[in-house]
Amino acid sequence: MSAAAQLIDGVALSRQLRSEVATRASALKAKGVTPGLAVVLVGENSASQVYVRNKVKACQESGLHSVLEQYPATTSEDALLARIDALNRDPAIHGILVQLPLPAHIDAQKVIEAISPAKDVDGFHVSSAGALMVGQAGFWPCTPYGCMKMLDSIGYELKGKHAVVIGRSNIVGKPMALMLLQKNATVTICHSATADLKAMTLQADVIVAAVGKLNILTADMVKPGAVVIDVGMNRNAQGKLCGDVDFDGVSQVASHITPVPGGVGPMTITMLLVNTLEAAEKVALVN
Ligand code: NAP
Repeated sequence: MSAAAQLIDGVALSRQLRSEVATRASALKAKGVTPGLAVVLVGENSASQVYVRNKVKACQESGLHSVLEQYPATTSEDALLARIDALNRDPAIHGILVQLPLPAHIDAQKVIEAISPAKDVDGFHVSSAGALMVGQAGFWPCTPYGCMKMLDSIGYELKGKHAVVIGRSNIVGKPMALMLLQKNATVTICHSATADLKAMTLQADVIVAAVGKLNILTADMVKPGAVVIDVGMNRNAQGKLCGDVDFDGVSQVASHITPVPGGVGPMTITMLLVNTLEAAEKVALVN
């Protein structure tokens, strides 16, 4: 059975955007500024190790300088804060990313707040969150930013549309809702205490699922022609990477859908490259 929905291909869109990053990075290099990202990993979390390696590799492929700093799980909060302070002062570093989660004895929010807002390319600093909230320029968190680029890529006009975001985390759901609102969508945010999720999603022109639960969105919950963005990353019983959306069912109803893998995941890394490049471009403008 062939799927009715058109795929929004995060790999192809990433390829195009990363090539634009590479072009802009080489223009900056010609002016003597090489965009640089520091990725800081504390501990031995195996998923985090894969994520940071992918981020560093993506930087290198797009001509960005990147350093991976790995510290043992026993690293103290003070030692980590001192390292962040040094990176804040390092002129070769334009973006700082601290891979989460951090070990339990380290206050993650304190570490994020220690990053200079000018280098906060993950967009998690309270100053970046505040800028998004009031509509000022600032770094947007990479995952919802990537989702917005995916909507842009199909020429989707959000003005007047009803967008339903499932999930309200600080890194995906909440900033996603604010970005959609900024584009004049009418936004509903759903979460674990939402009484009737299906009643909400059936009204949606756009659905963003960011929960972390297999099949939280099934075909009977989707209005025909809706656009569906799947942020979730889960493993099914066979160990295969899957999103939050029942892809086979929902793709028979939606007009557009993002796959997992190959959807939002690569776009998240791509927007990290874009944010790092733009952090460096701002420095180059000042100097
Ligand atoms: P999170 O912090 O665990 O937040 C999950 C959200 O889902 C919470 O707001 C929670 O509600 C809500 N939720 C839980 N059960 C629900 C239900 N039955 N109905 C409606 N909402 C429900 O997760 P996250 O960091 O936002 O990540 C969400 C998913 O996206 C995960 O699978 C994660 O791996 C994935 N992710 C992917 C990328 C990528 O690059 N592709 C990047 C980041 C995250 P409450 O607030 O009420 O608890």
